[in-house]
Amino acid sequence: MLLDYHLHTPRCGHATGEMEAYLLQAQRAGLDEIGFSDHDPPYFLPEAARYPGIGMTETELPEYVAEVMQLAQRHPELPVRLGLEADYVAGQEERLAALLAPYPWDYVIGSVHFVNGWDLTDERFLERYAATSALSLSESYFFDVQGLARSGLFQIAGHFDVVDKFFCGHTQLAREVAIAALEELRKAGMAIEINSSGLRYPKASPFPARWLVQEAITRHIPFVLGSDAHAPHRVGAQLHRIAAWLQSLGVTSVLRFHNREASPVPLG
Ligand code: ZN
Ligand code: ZN
Ligand code: FE
Ligand code: FE
Repeated sequence: MLLDYHLHTPRCGHATGEMEAYLLQAQRAGLDEIGFSDHDPPYFLPEAARYPGIGMTETELPEYVAEVMQLAQRHPELPVRLGLEADYVAGQEERLAALLAPYPWDYVIGSVHFVNGWDLTDERFLERYAATSALSLSESYFFDVQGLARSGLFQIAGHFDVVDKFFCGHTQLAREVAIAALEELRKAGMAIEINSSGLRYPKASPFPARWLVQEAITRHIPFVLGSDAHAPHRVGAQLHRIAAWLQSLGVTSVLRFHNREASPVPLG
């Protein structure tokens, strides 16, 4: 089976296309199940520190949830799961728990985007890399992924080595901290997302890179598939290829989620 659990919606302010169009593309791509996982409202930033395109507002969150559930009802032929890509920010765990509590998530993807107060996945902040030591940035990023794993708030770790999005090699610099983060994910019983959007960036590999996928396999950490589509034509992008690649590494199943409970499905 092929599932795409990482789909955004225009509510986040930096994605395009109707949710219906994402679903139609999933059917065209032959996917067996999809899940929307739009960005959470930036609960960790005060109103004045928010900027355009950072995410939906708190008042939009219930509308997003309702819209995903309505889409699922209109299309019983394709299972549609309710997910969220939620930012992990150290020290803000209680606020996030309160934000998540009212809704029947099938899964929550935990992602570290903000490190030392800026979003390292947003190309508008590329100049900040030059002002930050690559080693300390990478170590801070993977320390935060450790906190993400320990928080108990998430089922899935999103784009594990996204610190390599624009510049390769950050993860290798912080190799030991990255491995420690994998260990924490294993202890937490979490899954790791294989995110095909990395193929479009300089690393030309999914997030995470092959050596980390192999480290995860050694630890029996399960996988979830996601395209990180911010436009309908990206839904399912490269997932057939990634499934074949995972199979070549000996992976035979991936996880699906319902009510935050995982079950394995055969891959491919
Ligand atoms: Zn996004
Ligand atoms: Zn339909
Ligand atoms: Fe993300
Ligand atoms: Fe995303």
